[in-house]
Amino acid sequence: MATFDADLIIAGAGCAGLSALWQVMQRPNERRNVLVIDRDFEVGDDRTWAFWGTQDAPFAGLADRSWARLKVRFPGWETVGQLQNKARIRESGSGQRLYHRVRQRDYEEAILREAAGRPNIRFVTQDIISLRDDHDGGVVELAEGELRAPLVLQSTQLSPSDSVARVRHPLRQHFGGWEVRTQFPIFDPHVATLMDFDTDQLGATTFFYVLPETPNRALVELTMFSLEPRDSAFYDAQIRQHLDRLGAGDVSIDRTEYGVIPMDDRRPGQQWGQHVWNVGTVGGMTKPTSGYTFQRIHSQSHHLISHWADGTTPSPVPQPPARYWFADRTLLNILHHHPEHGRTIFERLYASTPIDDVLTFLDEDSTLSNDARMIAKLPWVPFMRAAVAEFGADLATAITSRP
Ligand SMILES: Cc1cc2nc3c(=O)[nH]c(=O)nc-3n(C[C@H](O)[C@H](O)[C@H](O)COP(=O)(O)OP(=O)(O)OC[C@H]3O[C@@H](n4cnc5c(N)ncnc54)[C@H](O)[C@@H]3O)c2cc1C
Repeated sequence: MATFDADLIIAGAGCAGLSALWQVMQRPNERRNVLVIDRDFEVGDDRTWAFWGTQDAPFAGLADRSWARLKVRFPGWETVGQLQNKARIRESGSGQRLYHRVRQRDYEEAILREAAGRPNIRFVTQDIISLRDDHDGGVVELAEGELRAPLVLQSTQLSPSDSVARVRHPLRQHFGGWEVRTQFPIFDPHVATLMDFDTDQLGATTFFYVLPETPNRALVELTMFSLEPRDSAFYDAQIRQHLDRLGAGDVSIDRTEYGVIPMDDRRPGQQWGQHVWNVGTVGGMTKPTSGYTFQRIHSQSHHLISHWADGTTPSPVPQPPARYWFADRTLLNILHHHPEHGRTIFERLYASTPIDDVLTFLDEDSTLSNDARMIAKLPWVPFMRAAVAEFGADLATAITSRP
């Protein structure tokens, strides 16, 4: 008979680990023992999470800012879209879709505060050295010994099969941002800018992202899709120039944010083994062509914790229709091999499709006819070339993996 240290181990207490812990705490009669392991439980302030959804979307209640209008800009023109997505609102009756921002510190504080009063939840501050899937449970190896549970949800490392998987498009979304106060009022606090491509492309796909709070205060972020991140001085210099171009005047920086999000075609699996599950980014929850992960993390943790609570064998979160994965890979192929097409593709996309519909497509929740309309407006030559290359890669894999 196996002996366990807990009924559930959450290995890694970042966005995904804390989301799973939150799901456990949402079940009023849940008294089983949970161990949460991380090298550091200090509340962080090095990222903000933006996502779209109605007011009842997970953690929308923690948002310190929400916007109903989103903008994209290109040299010579811009468009502003009102979020609404009428079909969904009719279905759910839950109100208007908004673009929300949750600060890491508010998210972590809310969840850790709630957990502090629960005797069945314990925290272990240690480095995880390795993970293992044994025949009767998951094992987490720490410097001071091993901890075991029938289910381990881990967000700390790629599983062994994913870490050796071949990556054909090793792109990354990398960015540096400043939360600034400007001398002159240059921001419209009612409109968030998803992509401002009116800037040098710097040999990549490059744009500014702006989350405004007041006419004088905003998060201004330089974002690039390319192979290698840059050092913070590089992003800083670009942001400074951009603010000068906008006529910001004197600028004071309240907070900085730098980051890298994988944007490759690896598609990590959700299952390490029978008892160890991969959650969050290492569990494949990052949409490779956009970097958005937050909402998917909460869907995955809700799904896995529901199984755990019901005592049923977990299953992976169902995959969306294959066409979305093929579209992602085709776009990654172009951005990898022909970054000079990046801005044109986004320009054609937003010139022909309302922002609200693009968000629905990114949610992988769109209709085939809308997708066809949207894709028909994109530059055909690079897309056909990339689609043929991706199809060829699938075919080659199928042939070489035949017994
Ligand atoms: C700066 C930044 C901004 C982002 N903004 C957005 C956004 O606006 N919207 C969106 O949808 N997505 C965004 N993302 C992407 C994604 O939502 C985040 O990366 C998210 O934090 C991923 O959650 P996670 O739990 O998978 O990983 P993490 O949040 O990174 O958590 C992993 C945890 O594991 C711990 N850990 C790792 N290794 C070990 C070890 N060996 N031992 C012990 N502990 C360990 C870490 O300390 C950490 O707490 C952003 C990412 C970054 C980097």
